[in-house]
Amino acid sequence: MSHLFPTYNRRPVHLVKGKGTIVTDDQGKQYLDFTSGIAVVSLGHSHPVIVKAIAEQSQKLWHVSNLFESPEQQQLASALVENTQLSRAFFCNSGAEANEAAIKLARKHTGKATIITFEKSFHGRTFGAMSATGQSKIKEGFGPMLETFISVPFNDVQQLESVIDSNVAAIMLEVIQGEGGVREIDVTFAQVVKDICEREDILLIIDEVQTGIGRTGTRYAYEQTVLKPDIITLAKGLGGGFPIGAMLGTEALAETFGPGTHGTTYGGGYLAVAVAQTVVNHIFQEAFLHNVEERASYLVTKLKEQLPTDQFIVKGKGLLVGIECNQSVHTIIKEAEQQGLLLVQAGDNVIRLLPPLTVSISEIDDALSILVPLLVATTE
Ligand SMILES: *Cc1c(COP(=O)(O)O)cnc(C)c1O
Repeated sequence: MSHLFPTYNRRPVHLVKGKGTIVTDDQGKQYLDFTSGIAVVSLGHSHPVIVKAIAEQSQKLWHVSNLFESPEQQQLASALVENTQLSRAFFCNSGAEANEAAIKLARKHTGKATIITFEKSFHGRTFGAMSATGQSKIKEGFGPMLETFISVPFNDVQQLESVIDSNVAAIMLEVIQGEGGVREIDVTFAQVVKDICEREDILLIIDEVQTGIGRTGTRYAYEQTVLKPDIITLAKGLGGGFPIGAMLGTEALAETFGPGTHGTTYGGGYLAVAVAQTVVNHIFQEAFLHNVEERASYLVTKLKEQLPTDQFIVKGKGLLVGIECNQSVHTIIKEAEQQGLLLVQAGDNVIRLLPPLTVSISEIDDALSILVPLLVATTE
């Protein structure tokens, strides 16, 4: 019998090693990993610069706690906020934790309780982040949620306007809803959100846990919109596979999180920061981001060419790509896995492609040669 809580529907594959985009199971079978540990392994598996960073740091110092000063955290913070309107970072260990920090900061700073969130959003599994999440299946059975959140339909201007009042501390959103089905914010809706935040003095929290750190072809996904976040949350791709989260905020928010207001034991530990600094140094380079853009546009163009457009909708930004199908995608994902391609679902009927940002054109071709025939076969 298993001694694990059965919280996951695990696939019957035991992966034991990985290199770049390729992972290998305990039978020696190889797979193209187009999940990247759900947008985590941004530089691919066992990237030499990460292996080196962790090996070197592991021989120096692992952990001292946040009781001591940390030039390493300072350096990572300044790399993350460079060329943004943000100026401060708080480090934690996961996306949910980053969102908890954001929720606490927004409430304390404004002295107001309401945070507006969106249907089909995903913000994590802790109590605050779960309450913020716009998916009832994630909240089922856990009793009353925090009352602080008001959920409205995404991209619905009227509904958003109708819940704005003087109690609203913040609006919290994903620029592309990842778990919710790769749903992008509309251009007009983004403009309305920006206007409301400015007009009503409401904070804007952008959850970039999935979209951040180069995933969409820019450092952050919001850069491709008119939005001006007061707070950004990060995790997933930031650590390239090592757990780390971060909340970034504007200078105006700094004082609200004074000594003793918030904290975490592990957050910003030496190993995590050394790895994240390496990831960021690598990804926040114009040439690297340009490459992500190029591969993404190759992938999307090929998908659009090869799939019947009346049956499939290809969407997303950068290497966060969704293929919306008009049927359940469970079987397709299973068959792709048998043929050596790992994929992940989003929403009810969307296949999500999240290759490492280092994926090659020939690996994209290999993935397409498995996926496209499977998809086309469902239409025949
Ligand atoms: C995955 C995810 C989270 C939660 O991150 P954890 O590290 O699992 O807590 C929050 N927000 C978004 C947008 C995510 O995709």
